[in-house]
Amino acid sequence: MAKKSYEEPFELPVKGTKLLLHSCCAPCSGGIMEKLHEEGIEYDVFFYNPNIHPLNEYEIRKQENIRYCDELGIKFIDADYDKDNWFARVKGMEWEPERGARCTACFDMRFERTALYAQENGYKVISSTLGISRWKNMEQINGSGVTAAAKYNDVTYWTYNWRKQGGSSRMYELAKEQEFYKQEYCGCIYSLRDTNRWRVKRGDSKIDLGKEYYGFKNTE
Ligand code: SF4
Repeated sequence: MAKKSYEEPFELPVKGTKLLLHSCCAPCSGGIMEKLHEEGIEYDVFFYNPNIHPLNEYEIRKQENIRYCDELGIKFIDADYDKDNWFARVKGMEWEPERGARCTACFDMRFERTALYAQENGYKVISSTLGISRWKNMEQINGSGVTAAAKYNDVTYWTYNWRKQGGSSRMYELAKEQEFYKQEYCGCIYSLRDTNRWRVKRGDSKIDLGKEYYGFKNTE
């Protein structure tokens, strides 16, 4: 497969269609949503993240994303929380490091569902907010996205580099402005386990789930 350039102009690869934007969370999607909005690119947000555990953490992340969609007047599509299928998909990869094979399987599953929804509902372009995080491997994410979209003749995965043109810094600015919930691990219980181990090793406390927001701590 030819390597795609990340220096593409900011325009959908297929003109005259609506983008289906897979969103992982409010902080990662916020700046991207704002940019799409400002540039007049039509899109809906698709939330399919059965990788997020425990359930309370999933609900908080989802509600934060809904809150910002409501603010911008963007449609939020709430997909299944089929976590049993997610655990089946990553079975045997519990000890893989982040950015390893488990993450590829995780991205594949989420993008396959996104591409299927796009195909069934007339969206010709899909993309994901996952790539904006500097903790993620963009090549790995784009590889999963392109593979998922390739199953359908009329669905294309947009490999735009959201980190460029101030995208990374705007992500943090907006998270502070909006006081989004600040998740401190990627999402699955394995990333929670590994992040806590790393924190304890460097002398920090374990993650206090559901408490940290950009700008304040929920002490209730
Ligand atoms: S670390 Fe993140 S991307 Fe990797 S499997 Fe867990 S939730 Fe998915």
